[in-house]
Amino acid sequence: MMNYRRFLNAISEARQPSPLRVLAEVIDRSPPTTISMANGNPNSTLFPFEEASIKMRDGSSIKIDANDMSKALQYSPTPGLTDLKKLLMTMQKELHRPPTLTSTDENQTDLTITTGSQQALCTACEMLLARGDNVLVGSPLYPGAEVMMRPLGVNFLEVKTDGDGLCVDSLKQSLSKWTPDDIESSPDAPKVLYVVPNGDNPTGGGLPLHRKQDIYQLAQQYNLIILEDDPYYFLQFNKPKVPSFLSMDVDGRVLRFDSFSKVLSAGLRIGFVTGPQALLKRINYHLMASVLHASGISQMFVYKLLETWGMQMFLEHTQSVADFYEARRDVMLAAADKYLKGLAEWSVPRGGMFIWFKLLGVDDTYELITEKAIQKEVLFVPGISFCPDRSKPSSHIRACYSLATDEQMDEGIKRLASLIVEAQKETK
Ligand code: PMP
Repeated sequence: MMNYRRFLNAISEARQPSPLRVLAEVIDRSPPTTISMANGNPNSTLFPFEEASIKMRDGSSIKIDANDMSKALQYSPTPGLTDLKKLLMTMQKELHRPPTLTSTDENQTDLTITTGSQQALCTACEMLLARGDNVLVGSPLYPGAEVMMRPLGVNFLEVKTDGDGLCVDSLKQSLSKWTPDDIESSPDAPKVLYVVPNGDNPTGGGLPLHRKQDIYQLAQQYNLIILEDDPYYFLQFNKPKVPSFLSMDVDGRVLRFDSFSKVLSAGLRIGFVTGPQALLKRINYHLMASVLHASGISQMFVYKLLETWGMQMFLEHTQSVADFYEARRDVMLAAADKYLKGLAEWSVPRGGMFIWFKLLGVDDTYELITEKAIQKEVLFVPGISFCPDRSKPSSHIRACYSLATDEQMDEGIKRLASLIVEAQKETK
C-alpha cells in the first residue's frame, strides 16, 4: 500500500480544505428544492450574458442555453463542472483503464480539471517537491517544467533521452547511488520522476511499451511517483497508441496530465489531472486557495462539444489532427534530407510537433539561433533553452513543424543549412 505522506512537502501537508469551497460541492449536489442562504455566490440573473451559439468549422452549431450558461458563469466545484468531470472520467476509463479505478483505498483513481495541464503540473510540483530534493527529469527538458521546478530549490538528476524517449539504462545510472532497500532511510533519494511519454518537447521522442514497463518497474522498486506529462498523447503517429503509465499503474503512483490544448484549443486553457485520490485531494486544496476552479465558460465549451460529438467523433477528430501533424513532419523531414545531410543529425519524431536537430561542428547554437538566424529571417529555439543544466552549451536546436507551409519549411531549412556551413567555416 502506498504511503502518500512520504511524498508531500510541508506546505502541502499544512493545507486544509477551504470551508466555502467544500460548501460549493454540497450545494452542487443538493436537489433544486433546497433553500440555500449559505453560499455567497453572486446573483447570476445580474450577469449580462444569457446564451451562446458557437458556429463550428463543419457548419454545425453548438448551443449553450440559458440554464447551462448560468452554470458556466457561476462559481462551481473546484475539481471541475460535475458533468464534464464525469465525462472525462469515462474517457480515462475507456482510453487507459486505470487498474485502481475501482479501488476503495487512497489510491482510487480521481480526476480534477485545471487551467491547462501546466497548472496541474505546477500544483503537483508544489505539492511534492521541496528545497534540496533530487528530481529525475529527462534531458533535454520541457522548459515549462524547468521553470516550475527550479525555483522550488530542487536538483535535477538528468536522464538521457533518445528517439525512444527516456533511456532506461541512464535512469538506472541516475538511481545507482541508492538501493531499493535503503531509499526509505535516505532523505536525498529521489521521489519523483517527470516524463513526457509521447511527442516529447523538444525531441519528438516517444516511449515504446517495453521501456514504459521497465520504467514503471523501477518506479516500484525505488518508490517513485511518476508525473506523466502527456499533452501530445493524441498526437502519436504510430498506431495503435502506446499504453500509458496510468494504464499500468497498479499501485497508484502515477499522476497523469492530459491537455486539450493541442486538439481543441490552447486558449481555452483546459487540462486535467488523473491519479490517486490521496494526491488529487491535496491538489484540490491548493486550487481552493489559488484559482478556486478552472474557467466555467471554458469547461462548458468542452463539455458541450464532447456531449455533442460523443467519444467516437472526438477520437476521429484527434486522429485527423495527428494525421495533419504527421504530414507536416514528413515535409520537414524531406527538407532536412534535402539540405541537412552531413550538416545535422536528427531522429524521426514519433509524435508531437518538433524535430530536435543536432548541428554538426557547432558546439553552441545559442548565438547562431538568437542572432545570425534572426538576421537571415528564420527562427528556431536554441538547445540551451531545454538543458536542465543551463551552464552547458548545446549543439541542438528545436524546429517546430506545426505552422510553416511546405514552401516556408523548404526555404527555412535551406537557410538553416547555410547558417551551419558558415558556422563550421568560422570554427575551422
Ligand atoms: N507539457 C508539455 C511537455 C508541453 O509541451 C506543454 C505545452 N507547451 C504543456 C505541458 C502545457 O500544456 P497546456 O496548454 O495544457 O497547459
